[in-house]
Amino acid sequence: MPIVVQKYGGTSVADAERIRAVAARAVATHNSGNDVVVVVSAMGKSTDELITLANEVTPNSHPREMDMLLTAGERISMALLAMAIQDHGIGSMSLTGSQAGILTTVEHGHAEIIGIRGDRVREGLGEDKIVIVAGFQGFSPETRDVTTLGRGGSDATAVALAATLQADVCEIYTDVDGVFTADPRLVPNATKLDEISFEEMLEMAAAGAGVLMARSVEFGRRYNIPIHVRSSFHGEVGTWVKEETMEEAIIRGVAHDVSEAKVTVHGVPDSPGLAAQLFEPLAEAGLSVDMIVQNVSREGVTDISFTVPRTDIDAAEQAAKVTAEAIGADGVDVDHNIAKVSLVGAGMKDELGIAGKMFRILAEHGVNIEMISTSPIRISCVVRGDDVSAAVQGLHDGFSLGTEQES
Ligand code: ASP
Ligand code: MG
Repeated sequence: MPIVVQKYGGTSVADAERIRAVAARAVATHNSGNDVVVVVSAMGKSTDELITLANEVTPNSHPREMDMLLTAGERISMALLAMAIQDHGIGSMSLTGSQAGILTTVEHGHAEIIGIRGDRVREGLGEDKIVIVAGFQGFSPETRDVTTLGRGGSDATAVALAATLQADVCEIYTDVDGVFTADPRLVPNATKLDEISFEEMLEMAAAGAGVLMARSVEFGRRYNIPIHVRSSFHGEVGTWVKEETMEEAIIRGVAHDVSEAKVTVHGVPDSPGLAAQLFEPLAEAGLSVDMIVQNVSREGVTDISFTVPRTDIDAAEQAAKVTAEAIGADGVDVDHNIAKVSLVGAGMKDELGIAGKMFRILAEHGVNIEMISTSPIRISCVVRGDDVSAAVQGLHDGFSLGTEQES
């Protein structure tokens, strides 16, 4: 029997009525002859609420207990959904991440899946049940503790489970119709893509497109599991993320990210080893650096800027200050008001002039570029945070994405 893994995000299970709607869809999929595994997120904004609550109790971080707390969110939605499915007269059972055998590394708050046992999932399917698995959580065999996979981690649970079960498809149900050429909240004429390749989706997700967690796309690519991103509010086809697309687009879409901040270290002496001295402590502190720019040196000194997630900015500033002092740099600056805009498209690798055109369009919209980074299929620019709308809309129009603008 074909195996379908369906994942429902927070808005799709936000209240009793939505949970009953999800149950009806899972049951319909089951009744049309599929084995169905459902992965759920926590209801609505409940993960955020739990984080707020913890912050009210204590300003200190307690990673192990935080994971205990946050995994409760998905437990609530999974049990409610199992009840709603059973009311259709179909067998169903919910499993926590550890019951489902989702094994992870030990890092609380951002553990990685290292394997899935899945025997209880298979048993449930063997009994013709719809099996529900709590997203976003697992279990570290090393510490025997419950872990979480990072925000949006239910996507990773779903695609990894689909890979383990050799599912035919992993459906990601969400509150939007699919993957768009740009964020429709910024660009009203953005259009839904029918398909996008794994590598493009990976770049879009890493560049800030929130619709899929990047790590889940990585699983999809590695195990070649087609991912269908679609709305839980209607039955229309969404966006297929897969190995090969019918058409290779020069530009598939524009992504943006306002979640990062920039650190600049001024007056770094220009000699071998200093960049290493600056970045090694950041890695040791578990901070993931995104873009890095080193300016041309004048008179033996140079400025080095880098971006990190805004949630890590205090730690990054601290680490940079310690190094700056040690190496005799002039000082450290932090800039919170930045945004990153990215163009993504697999066809870009065979096309000349895309970068020049991107920079020209930004200039025509009065947008200054502060940092640039590229991959073979992506060009990203850091700009002022206030310019993000103009930049994204400008690029979207300039590369003729989406539908025609009405004038
Ligand atoms: N509930 C978790 C979060 O809000 C995981 C998820 O939704 O995928 O980040
Ligand atoms: Mg979520």
